[in-house]
Amino acid sequence: MSARVLIVDDLYPNVRLLETKLSLEYFDVVVAMNGPDALAICERGACDVVLLDVMMPGMDGFEVCRRLKSNPDTAHLPVVIVTALDQPADRLRGLEAGADDFLTKPIDDTALMTRVRSLVRLKAVTDELRNRALATREIGGADPLALAAADTGENAKILLVEDRPGAADRIGTALAQHHQVTVESDPHRALVLAPEGGFELALVSLDLEGFDGLRLCSQLRSLDRTRTMSLIMIGEMDEKSRITRGLDFGVNDYLLRPVDRNELIARVRTQVRRRRFSETLRSALQASMELAITDDLTGLHNRRYLDRHIGPVFGDAMLHQKGLACLLLDIDRFKLINDTWGHEAGDEVLRAFAERIRQQVRPMDILARYGGEEVVMVVPGAELPEARAIAERIRERVEAAPFTVQRGTRDIPVTVSIGVAVRRPTDATPADMLKRADAALYQAKSAGRNRVEAAAA
Ligand code: GH3
Ligand code: MG
Ligand code: MG
Repeated sequence: MSARVLIVDDLYPNVRLLETKLSLEYFDVVVAMNGPDALAICERGACDVVLLDVMMPGMDGFEVCRRLKSNPDTAHLPVVIVTALDQPADRLRGLEAGADDFLTKPIDDTALMTRVRSLVRLKAVTDELRNRALATREIGGADPLALAAADTGENAKILLVEDRPGAADRIGTALAQHHQVTVESDPHRALVLAPEGGFELALVSLDLEGFDGLRLCSQLRSLDRTRTMSLIMIGEMDEKSRITRGLDFGVNDYLLRPVDRNELIARVRTQVRRRRFSETLRSALQASMELAITDDLTGLHNRRYLDRHIGPVFGDAMLHQKGLACLLLDIDRFKLINDTWGHEAGDEVLRAFAERIRQQVRPMDILARYGGEEVVMVVPGAELPEARAIAERIRERVEAAPFTVQRGTRDIPVTVSIGVAVRRPTDATPADMLKRADAALYQAKSAGRNRVEAAAA
């Protein structure tokens, strides 16, 4: 995994030292000797992880971090703050500025590589989501990146799995000032509770009586409904190797006992923000994918969806020598409806028309808006008699009752003409079948409308 690590430090020897260590592990290294240069490099997207020195003249590390985290274009970059001494106050300020982690000088090689590697992995995942979100940004609505960057990481639903009464009480109380906390002392019950509770984050003690907390973490990682939950382990200083194993299989972070209250709050908030960032992007992506295949007016699938899906359905019918039918539906004299009642009323008719047909389709059928007032229905498995019967039923349903529009003030009679075709063994592509349906529709129109016509099988 070749990732670009940005080292930000105003002292050249410090830069050299880190550069050597990281290069030995095959990371690409980028260097900035002051805050403004670092910000510029990050905005250009020229790095994957930032190692940030605190003490710099001009803009210090905290300020650089705050700016990175409040800018939607850089908020996703993992930032590790490097402090001169093991000073809890600096750690806290760093985490408050939004840092994802910190290292203390002199830097421990294992800690450096573990943290950088895990942050690079995390970034690879968020990058992919982010790129897709950027690609669909134009579609509208609130900008998911800005939304995600603005989240404060407060008021999360948190599960605390801890069976030491004192610790449970202390940690629970501290968290309760910012979040909704559920404390569970029994890991078996926690495993049942976790998928039900809609928790965003779980804190798990590694020192549970008669139960391996790491096992619980790994189970939570593998269950569908808890897979994306943030996980933080709570362990003793001498449990470093178990903690490393946990980080390796995807636990997000850890806290050492005795748990420092401020560090607890800050780390929990960082994880909550991180997860919300991914979730916001994920759901924005989902929504934009649905938008991309849905017709706005009718809520039916659009032409693009049809083009994508008819091929595989056609191929499947060909392979298994199964029936396949398509119906092309076109509202009769729709232009007249627009001209008489107005375009708005026309839209209402279209929506109601779509709804009436929707009630006639099965889950495996494709129903898509083909053009203005034309709808295509693809029916896998159907031979000509069945397809004709479906078409006839739809025709009757449309004619059976007028369409009520303009808040119930108008009843508009509507009829539909339908062209039906089924797949022929000689058809090379779905277009061949659609062409016959179109010709049949034309016949239905010429023969007086409000009719079903079918092309020969
Ligand atoms: P025919 O019976 O031969 O199908 O006659 P028609 O009037 O339905 O067919 P034509 O193709 O001449 O006109 C279709 C009309 O549909 C013209 C167009 O303005 C209208 N139309 C297309 N899309 C929409 C839409 O989204 N909303 C509304 N209200 N009208 C639309
Ligand atoms: Mg028409
Ligand atoms: Mg038409």
